[in-house]
Amino acid sequence: MLPDAAARASRRVESLLRELDPIGHEAAHPEAGYHRAAWTPEDLQLRGWFRDRAEGLGLRLEQDRVGNLWAWWLPENLTDPSEIQPGTATTCGSHLDSVPGGGRYDGPLGVVSALVAVELLQQTGWVPAHPLGIVCFSDEEGARFRIACFGSRVLTGALSPERALACTAEDGTSLASALTAGGVSPANYGPDPSLMARIRGHVELHVEQGYALAPAAAPLGVATAIWPHGRWHVALTGEANHAGTTPLERRDDPTLRLADLIRTAREAAEECGGVATVGKILVTPNGVNVIPSQVDAWVDVRAPDEAVLDAILHRLEDFGLERESRTPATHFDPTLAETLGDACIAATGTAAPHIPTAAGHDAGILQDAGVPSGMLFVRSTTGASHTPAEAATETDCGLGALALAEAIRQLERAE
Ligand SMILES: [Zn+2]
Repeated sequence: MLPDAAARASRRVESLLRELDPIGHEAAHPEAGYHRAAWTPEDLQLRGWFRDRAEGLGLRLEQDRVGNLWAWWLPENLTDPSEIQPGTATTCGSHLDSVPGGGRYDGPLGVVSALVAVELLQQTGWVPAHPLGIVCFSDEEGARFRIACFGSRVLTGALSPERALACTAEDGTSLASALTAGGVSPANYGPDPSLMARIRGHVELHVEQGYALAPAAAPLGVATAIWPHGRWHVALTGEANHAGTTPLERRDDPTLRLADLIRTAREAAEECGGVATVGKILVTPNGVNVIPSQVDAWVDVRAPDEAVLDAILHRLEDFGLERESRTPATHFDPTLAETLGDACIAATGTAAPHIPTAAGHDAGILQDAGVPSGMLFVRSTTGASHTPAEAATETDCGLGALALAEAIRQLERAE
């Protein structure tokens, strides 16, 4: 890399992030965060931006059966992505969708850094001997259809298309109609083993979600594993009645059991050594002067290992948990992690901590499907994520893109 590459990388990352800033986000109300749920007009705008940027770099666009976007930098001997041979491609990327009220970096930083890494490599005159792909996975957050990593789960076969297509958003929109609006055919929706088989190594760069790198004075980190985690639905039923005229002893109020659930989840997590959150609640009929007839709550549980996760779930059994998804622990490819560690040293001059994460990612889904995968983390200055408080410095973001470029060169060179 050229000596001023880090400074140029940070300028480029920042300028691409600024292009994305107005999408699903009102500058007048920054506290409201980013609203970029999958297959909404905002998401379609983000996808269009990705196509434009990728085409600007001369990459070949491919939309897979699930709607994930792939931008390929093909070696001279190939003219079309369909010619890519099994086990020859290196890929990197992340997602552009957000949780409701999300931050600026979760997702977009990985896509933007991949674009900048390719740009940096092109500027040095480097050309790949093997195919290099940037992927923008669709619906990573699961904010709208309630299953996280939709795009990678269906593509790898971890989630059946039938089950996926049965999902509807809260406003009643079916996944099928959302896909159709996004230009994806529900009839063709499903896994693509041959696309997966092309990849010999996949890297997702992501803003750190947690508090490990700042105290270690490290701008970058390398992921070792993803904690096992899942989402469970709880339906608590009661009886609707007047909030004024119904004596307390005659009430059947499900919010009392909701309070129990919330407290029990917290205590179980503390005692067992994991985390549990009731972050989403729907109250029916949701009237201020009506005793609710039903509460629907969703519990998110994560733990360092399966036994701790089971122990927390066991404590919540009496609430009638219905599993919506459960993802076992992911252990990232150790050889790839070593390469990412070397790339961090090349970019920053210092060793990057190797850390696990409690957040799910598409890279974890790919690793679990047998694609050697890894993750680079860019230090968060606030530790916060899934909120507008997400933050990373321009300098660290530049180092991340530089490390990604270095990792691509090393992975591509490996035989
Ligand atoms: Zn993310």
